[in-house]
Amino acid sequence: MQCPLLYRFRVIDRLPEKPSEAATRGTLVHAVLERLFDAPAAERTAPRAKALVPGQWDRLRDSRPEVGELFADDPEGERLARWLSEAERLVERWFTLEDPSRLEPAERELFVEAELDSGLRLRGIIDRVDVAPTGEVRIVDYKTGKAPRPQYAESALFQMKFYALVVWRLKKVVPRRLQLVYLGSGDVLTYDPVLADLERVERKLLALWEAIRLATETGDWRPRPTKLCGWCDHQAHCPEFGGTPPPYPLPVRAADPAGAEQGRMGPD
Ligand code: SF4
Repeated sequence: MQCPLLYRFRVIDRLPEKPSEAATRGTLVHAVLERLFDAPAAERTAPRAKALVPGQWDRLRDSRPEVGELFADDPEGERLARWLSEAERLVERWFTLEDPSRLEPAERELFVEAELDSGLRLRGIIDRVDVAPTGEVRIVDYKTGKAPRPQYAESALFQMKFYALVVWRLKKVVPRRLQLVYLGSGDVLTYDPVLADLERVERKLLALWEAIRLATETGDWRPRPTKLCGWCDHQAHCPEFGGTPPPYPLPVRAADPAGAEQGRMGPD
């Protein structure tokens, strides 16, 4: 949805990407919020959560040594100390938005997978699932960035509706509430979906998958420049920035309509 060429670089070419400070901090904060629920309710306090940060950072570095490279040029550890205290600030802000001593998540970091009638398989990891005594389901996602401006809220909610669709397909229950918790700005965005929302998302996903399937066959992946290009690791391969994509690694369908009709496949 963001940029077809970026999808190709990531999913088809599998070009490596450097870990970023912001994304790694997001992973760290998610780990802390998840682990805090291991403690009894009364002990889920902000100081305890902040105290989890160094240990979770060590675990993250052990499991993904490449993130340690982020601070390879910081021998005094000053930048790392600032980065860790920003993670603590985000964790602390969570307590102004939710009260974990009053929450008992049904699931944390829940891997979900469902198949649509078309055979398209959807997968995701949901940060938190709360289930009320009445059986109503709330899906919660933490964001370490800032809440989007209202005109962009719809695209932020797309991911949540995607999860809701998967849960509906799996459990035949439409989640009662979708909740995005923005730790960067201290905002909570909620949406109560209805079945028609999920059906719309399903149609959109099918159309998206059809576009992906077609581009995979033809090798025609277009760049779609936006301000997000500033965070893209692949400018050196992107024609929008004077780069050249690597040779396409898959066989491509001949571009002429006759060949396409015959479903002919062959080298470019
Ligand atoms: S630089 Fe921009 S247009 Fe080019 S691949 Fe990355 S996101 Fe797409």
